[in-house]
Amino acid sequence: MNVYDIVIIGGGLAGLTAALHLSQNNFEVLVIEKQRYPNHKVCGEYLSNEIKPYLDTLGVELPNPVSIDTLQFSTREGNQFIAKLPLGGMGISRYALDKALYLTALTNGVEFVFEAVKNVNFANNRFTLTTTSGNKYNSEIVIGAYGKRSVLDKDLNRKFVGRKSPWLGIKMHYQLKDFPDDLVALHNFKGGYAGLSKTETGAINFCYLVNYKSFESYKDIDHFNKNVVSKNPFLAQFLQNATPIFNKPLSIAQVSFDQKTTIERHMLMCGDTAGLIHPLCGNGMAMAIHSAKIAAECIISYLSAVDRSREALESDYNSIWEATFKRRLAAGRKLQTVLMQPVLAKVLMKLAVKSPGIVKKVIKSTHGKPITI
Ligand SMILES: Cc1cc2nc3c(=O)[nH]c(=O)nc-3n(C[C@H](O)[C@H](O)[C@H](O)COP(=O)(O)OP(=O)(O)OC[C@H]3O[C@@H](n4cnc5c(N)ncnc54)[C@H](O)[C@@H]3O)c2cc1C
Repeated sequence: MNVYDIVIIGGGLAGLTAALHLSQNNFEVLVIEKQRYPNHKVCGEYLSNEIKPYLDTLGVELPNPVSIDTLQFSTREGNQFIAKLPLGGMGISRYALDKALYLTALTNGVEFVFEAVKNVNFANNRFTLTTTSGNKYNSEIVIGAYGKRSVLDKDLNRKFVGRKSPWLGIKMHYQLKDFPDDLVALHNFKGGYAGLSKTETGAINFCYLVNYKSFESYKDIDHFNKNVVSKNPFLAQFLQNATPIFNKPLSIAQVSFDQKTTIERHMLMCGDTAGLIHPLCGNGMAMAIHSAKIAAECIISYLSAVDRSREALESDYNSIWEATFKRRLAAGRKLQTVLMQPVLAKVLMKLAVKSPGIVKKVIKSTHGKPITI
């Protein structure tokens, strides 16, 4: 059996960041990831600047991200406001971002296995993980960073798995001249909302979240885009003029925003595995990276202690995670409820036009301050 200090399940943003942080502190780290790099993922690809100083400390060089400091928001009918983002962010594809983290992790000596983990067992203060091909790995610490939903959640009997989620995510890259570099746009349509922003390649990422009820009577994404999404005049204009780059859109179903737990079978859950903020906040990626930092710091103090207390490790991680993210998640939930109801969305729009300070307050309630080690 292969033995490590720490095994991380899932090499997305949370898993790769934790791997980087821990390997830089001289621990032996294995990441088990089910897909090879690089690959595209359903994501709005707007990355908040709050994680920039931390990624710099970890030695991650991002390849030409686009600098974004302006938000455009529109209602279904096309009423809009434009606001400056307090902290701003970057436009970078997941293809490039995850690859940059992966390559830095390889340079740090992190080991990778490309398979899915199907089972985690905890006995005698150690973990044994089994992959789909039957390989086994052993470690004192496991981080669960396998994203929004996985077969592992069933194995762990997590509550949210039993509840169906109505949300679908759809994403596609397009080419369009004259799309401003510095803009992230959030446009509403019946049953959902779409984000538009440029990535490092110059392609524009078009990504939306939609309620399945709104989607189900249309045969496919093309019909839905024509008949529902394009009712918003900004989205209609975009879809008429932009040229698709992918052969077909990427999609994911059952995107769950339910509350989750931060510890399961003694694993520390990180990123979306511990909880997903509504995408309209544009903060899920930063939260995933930040939660990895919290997990890594808790693990380093646990492994460096003379008297190791797993109970203290778990309780420290849980309380820091809650203090950092619980209010943000709640603010995201409230914001989503308001924006999905046309009347409330119009009220918010009017308030935002009258007093732009409100927009900054709302954005701040779902974001954090710049993070460093
Ligand atoms: C429609 C939509 C739009 C979004 N837009 C934005 C945005 O613009 N800005 C933003 O900041 N956030 C956005 N988010 C949120 C953001 O995408 C997530 O918060 C972020 O990807 C979380 O990273 P993660 O590392 O937790 O999970 P992931 O990046 O999903 O990584 C999980 C990894 O685990 C692997 N895995 C899964 N199961 C197993 C297994 N059993 N064994 C091994 N590996 C496994 C997967 O292959 C994957 O690579 C959006 C989300 C959605 C749904």
